[in-house]
Amino acid sequence: MKINRLAVYCSSSDHIKKIYFDQADGLGALMAIQNIELVYGGGMVGLMGQVAKSIKNHQGRTIGVTPKALQIDGVVNTIDDELIITDDMHSRKAKMIELADGFIALAGGFGTLEEMLEVMTLKQLGYHQKPIVFLNTDGYYQKLFDMFEHIYSERFAKAEYRQLYHISQTPEAAVDYLTQYEPPNLPNKWFI
Ligand code: AMP
Repeated sequence: MKINRLAVYCSSSDHIKKIYFDQADGLGALMAIQNIELVYGGGMVGLMGQVAKSIKNHQGRTIGVTPKALQIDGVVNTIDDELIITDDMHSRKAKMIELADGFIALAGGFGTLEEMLEVMTLKQLGYHQKPIVFLNTDGYYQKLFDMFEHIYSERFAKAEYRQLYHISQTPEAAVDYLTQYEPPNLPNKWFI
């Protein structure tokens, strides 16, 4: 599948280990080299800022999508090729989903989790068939995957829904998966 634009969901925190920044850098470089545009929260902070900076350093293109309320000096990035301002967080997330051909999470906190769970939920219900990848830097998401396994074993979701998302350990593996992705044939959500 051709990925022209990739939404990257990731941390707004800067107070994190260097390895997280290194993988954000690596992902940005690969995206720029492969001509994949960045769709992201438009922040200059945390891993968001790092991915955008890396893409611009490698002559790639970035689209920030930020709600009015977060248009704060020192928070919103000034390096983007395009900055889309939305009325609120809901329309911002919808805009990012509409623009992107796929979704990837670098390490992040509640905001990142919310965005990832939303695109997984929408895919589960058949609203889209776009690829979804967790970049599991340094095993950061392992406890979340353990929770997902608990969801399957307790039958809150069908085990086939492991195919809703993919887990990569490196930016290279993530981009390979995204560019070779073919939508799986998923069963419907209902246990009936
Ligand atoms: P968190 O994981 O809680 O740090 O939140 C990061 C996610 O929420 C990012 O993927 C963004 O889409 C969004 N977000 C959080 N803070 C900002 C911000 N200052 N500007 C734009 N987006 C943000």
